[in-house]
Amino acid sequence: MEVFASIQGEGAFVGEPQVFLRLFGCPLRCRWCDTPGSWKVPATGEARIARPAGARREPCWAGAFQAACWIAECEPGSPRSVSVTGGEPLAWPDFILALAPLLGGRRLHLETAGAHPRTLARVLTVCDHVSLDLKPELDLDAPEELRSVEAGQAQAFAGADERSPRTKEEWQRARTACLRLVAGRDACAKIVVSGAREARDFTPLLDELEECAPALALYLTPATPVNGVPAPSRELVESVAEMARDRDLAVRVVPQVHRMLALP
Ligand code: SF4
Repeated sequence: MEVFASIQGEGAFVGEPQVFLRLFGCPLRCRWCDTPGSWKVPATGEARIARPAGARREPCWAGAFQAACWIAECEPGSPRSVSVTGGEPLAWPDFILALAPLLGGRRLHLETAGAHPRTLARVLTVCDHVSLDLKPELDLDAPEELRSVEAGQAQAFAGADERSPRTKEEWQRARTACLRLVAGRDACAKIVVSGAREARDFTPLLDELEECAPALALYLTPATPVNGVPAPSRELVESVAEMARDRDLAVRVVPQVHRMLALP
């Protein structure tokens, strides 16, 4: 969908200049999604390649080698870590596996919603950092599975054969499996706190973290009030942080820095 250099706005590497590789395709339907334009995979379309000399458009269907070249083109200086984001990058496990050895030593950071543990397990060994974006169930609408858009592109989806969770129990199983996979690795969990939620809505996520990955760094992200997303009150953020501390979780509250700085 796009390749651009910016500053990481969330999670354990907040503030780090990185290159972002945003992939089309997401079967999930988070209510506060800030990139709904990434949901559908277009049969034909363009990717935005934001080079320091100026952005240009390229056909969006690209292999790992092409993507690695674009990453190098978009770096304004020396090599940066690469944040693979979406969409849901786990829609493209074969692409991620092919990209990793082409990054010339750059770190590969994966941003994922933690809904597809079997696929996460496949790509984990090539990821230098995993950021699990955990969602309260009330923030999720029913998923819509990705479809191969043309017969010729069916092969590209061959690796993405894991159904998305639908029920509360399926979500719980997916999240806990993902948390167990990243426990003890270079990883973090993020939870966006919006003003539409109450503190108790976060109890299941915090309980799962305590049970499956108690040492994982947890970043609470107060939602930025844009596009109709309600900002949380100070009291709500403090309550959720305290609930995390009660469980001995390593919690930090960090606002969305890219929003504050109006960065892409
Ligand atoms: S997983 Fe990410 S891209 Fe997909 S709906 Fe949720 S926020 Fe949007």
